Amino acid sequence: MADQGPRLTTAFGNPISDNQNSLTAGSRGPVLMQDYHLIEKMAHFNRERIPERVVHAKGYGAYGTFRLTRSLSEFTRAKVLTEVGKDVPMVARFSTVGGESGSADTARDPRGFALKFYTEEGNWDLVGNNTPIFFVRDAIKFSDFIRTQKRDPRTHLKPHWRRWDFWSLSPEAIHQVMFLYSDRGTPKSARFMNGYGSHTFSLWNDRGERHWVKFHFHTKQGIQNFSADEADEVAGKDPDYSSADLSTAIEQGDFPKWKVSVQLMPELDADTYRINPFDLTKVWPHGDYPLIEIGEMELNRNPENYFAEIEQSAFEPSNVVPGIGFSPDKMLQNRVLSYADAHRYRLGVNYQQIPVNQAKNADVQTYHRDGAMRTDGNHGAQVDYEPNSFGGPKQDPSFSEPPLRIQGDAGRYGWPGDDEDLYGQPKLFWTKVLDEGGRKRLVENIVTSMGDSPRHIQERMIAHWFKVHEDFGRGVAQGLGIDTAQAAAE
Ligand code: NDP
Repeated sequence: MADQGPRLTTAFGNPISDNQNSLTAGSRGPVLMQDYHLIEKMAHFNRERIPERVVHAKGYGAYGTFRLTRSLSEFTRAKVLTEVGKDVPMVARFSTVGGESGSADTARDPRGFALKFYTEEGNWDLVGNNTPIFFVRDAIKFSDFIRTQKRDPRTHLKPHWRRWDFWSLSPEAIHQVMFLYSDRGTPKSARFMNGYGSHTFSLWNDRGERHWVKFHFHTKQGIQNFSADEADEVAGKDPDYSSADLSTAIEQGDFPKWKVSVQLMPELDADTYRINPFDLTKVWPHGDYPLIEIGEMELNRNPENYFAEIEQSAFEPSNVVPGIGFSPDKMLQNRVLSYADAHRYRLGVNYQQIPVNQAKNADVQTYHRDGAMRTDGNHGAQVDYEPNSFGGPKQDPSFSEPPLRIQGDAGRYGWPGDDEDLYGQPKLFWTKVLDEGGRKRLVENIVTSMGDSPRHIQERMIAHWFKVHEDFGRGVAQGLGIDTAQAAAE
């Protein structure tokens, strides 16, 4: 054989003499069981797929840097938010939510905007979306909501009436539904969309002060979306359009950038602010809490191998560094638990050892041992319990977060409260944010999607649109051929 390139071996390094013909008794077979190379090849192939993510299965990503330009040292001790000018390496993964891992990038769907910063104080993950809000605000509704985006258990099809049934019975969703069916529901690619941490997090400093914080990433490439027709067409012609767009741009040295900003709210404001700042279905209006620019994020390196670096990347809101904390946001509270839980199922208990997930810039010292696929030496001879008298790693109280004030009686508190304005921010979105063309396309996109819904679901949903704005309700009703006077009176 020609000796071009390295020699082919088994997984254990034994040279392979023939990779084209299996070992058979005579030229017509049968195959001998001792052909361990053939068996290894097929056995590995049979096991190559790991479970795809339950949500956000279709994605793509890249590496880059975050550079702070304005220190937040008054608010936090986190080095990543106080050391100006330092490049912090990071990885990003962008995704659709409901489709399987081979589905089209341009589907109308929120986009995941997941970031992992490899800081010297450990990994900090911000697992956001391209929208500042979400459909539900209590994780107890999350799996029900996601099922409406997935396949019908009977037919394995994806009729839209399932989502409209759920949304019309979950009015807290309508703000995000309006984002989803607006132009920004079909971004061209990650390069042309904003990202939002979405949840309210907290920043705390050495003086024990806490501020609530929201993170915003504004694209410096400008917002670019596909029209509904274009998105459908591209889905057919090039379902991986957005993935290719990002990697091609990086390949060509055209590195995408985002302006990074925060909104900050003093801790006690939360008690009196007119909007519940921990409600994931509402924004903090910029007029009340202006954006403060703090830095820039740039993506500048493509992964070498998709499976190793992107499919196996694991982002989790529980990864915070000293100076950054959580908030009472009910969705965040559950995501802190369920993301790491999902990774342990999908990738295994030692998933933090996969190179893309490693805290590369921090000194990792734990008492975790063993478990499937342990590959890092398992801390060698180091003692595996704590406290111990053999110099094992110890807790450091200097990293204590200031106590969080919590009060209230345990109970299952219903949303919305009696005095809650569910339609105020959706109304602002309709009247103030969208222009006439944007409103028209929003109505058209909704009408198209609601076409397969039974009449009672359509009517229930239209009643919500009327509460947002009369023109909105009338537009959707007319589009669906429903008597507008009757719908308005619902
Ligand atoms: P502002 O006028 O200060 O902000 C409106 C924001 O809407 C813009 O800053 C922009 O956010 C976003 N926006 C602009 N065009 C579109 C579009 N076509 N589709 C989706 N979003 C768009 O007002 P407020 O802060 O008082 O918010 C008013 C309404 O704006 C809210 O009720 C909410 O519906 C929407 N909104 C508010 C955001 C916030 O964080 N306050 C963020 C996004 C939307 P961006 O700069 O992030 O692109």
